[in-house]
Amino acid sequence: MFRIVYDVTTPMSSPPEPLVELNAPVLSVRDLRVQFRTDRGTLKAADGVSFDLGKNEVIGIVGESGSGKTVTALSVLALLPTTAKATGEVLYGERNLLGLKEPEIRAIRGKDIAMVFQDALAALNPLHRVGNQISEAITVHNPKAPRKEVKARVLELLGLVGIPNPKERANEYPHEYSGGMRQRAMIAMAIANDPQILIADEPTTALDVTTQAQVLEVLQRVRERTGSAMIIITHDLGVVAGVADRILVMYAGRIVESGTVDDVFHRPSHPYTLGLLASLPRLDREGGRRLPRIAGQPPSLVDVPSGCSFHPRCPFAKLPEPCSADDPQLLPTVTANHLSACHFSDEVARAEPGDRAWDVEVVESGGGSVTPAP
Ligand code: SF4
Repeated sequence: MFRIVYDVTTPMSSPPEPLVELNAPVLSVRDLRVQFRTDRGTLKAADGVSFDLGKNEVIGIVGESGSGKTVTALSVLALLPTTAKATGEVLYGERNLLGLKEPEIRAIRGKDIAMVFQDALAALNPLHRVGNQISEAITVHNPKAPRKEVKARVLELLGLVGIPNPKERANEYPHEYSGGMRQRAMIAMAIANDPQILIADEPTTALDVTTQAQVLEVLQRVRERTGSAMIIITHDLGVVAGVADRILVMYAGRIVESGTVDDVFHRPSHPYTLGLLASLPRLDREGGRRLPRIAGQPPSLVDVPSGCSFHPRCPFAKLPEPCSADDPQLLPTVTANHLSACHFSDEVARAEPGDRAWDVEVVESGGGSVTPAP
């Protein structure tokens, strides 16, 4: 799997640069900043996001609404609204996707990098048969492809994503599909041209748990069959647990923790990640208790709190210093590839696995920053 060794002596002011790359990334995002001008000031939707995506690697980007995860994904495909100002680099091969003209990015979009959108019903055209929409995704990049081959490919794709009776289903309209089938059709469309990178934005939102599991299994199958690297965006850590290799946790437009799935689930090193984990339903948790939640709301991205942006909600915050005074940088914690932006990341990460004291403290802290739902 893709690994980077970071230089831990990198100055605090900049994100750590990889020293040794054992597997060249297919995508490198460097210091991505996306801003919107609003009546109330500049809204920083992404604020210095940097990460690499390795070949055949699956990254899960996790965070609450407004954390910057979708904006980060949209930047990769230059799908941001025209009012957005994006700086930094999104390197795909030699090219910085942020600097490409519309015809150049259009040649990449859907061919080399494809996206599965959040709302399949809105993304599919209700007036066209599903099979025709998938054909179009193929022919737009292969205008000379023989019709017979395109038709065969459509049926193959529908079969690959687990649509039963592809021949009949290809002739149906989106409203004749269930929610899960529509999402599968979107995945079929996205992988129609064997993209190197597949971005799935909340692919399981609004689906029941059984269908969620089926869609995740389809993504897993696609990865095995096509070798695509993937970015899966979700607010639910549970969704990426079984699919991703690495997880990036985002808060207020920044990555606050990144590491392998094992790192993040077994040695979470940022209190926000602890809060997200504590709010997951668990079979070994005492019944009859409401699920914990992280109290408060994510901050306005026009007016992000000083120092650590999580400090108003963090039960571990030491105030005023360092938490509301110094902005913690994303730096290695226990291992070189496990990064956290918390002044006390080592303390959090070194809590004994299985010792639920940290969970309990997060959930039941006297400060009430992360508390059980009333
Ligand atoms: Fe909490 Fe302070 Fe760490 Fe921020 S830096 S997450 S406020 S302990």
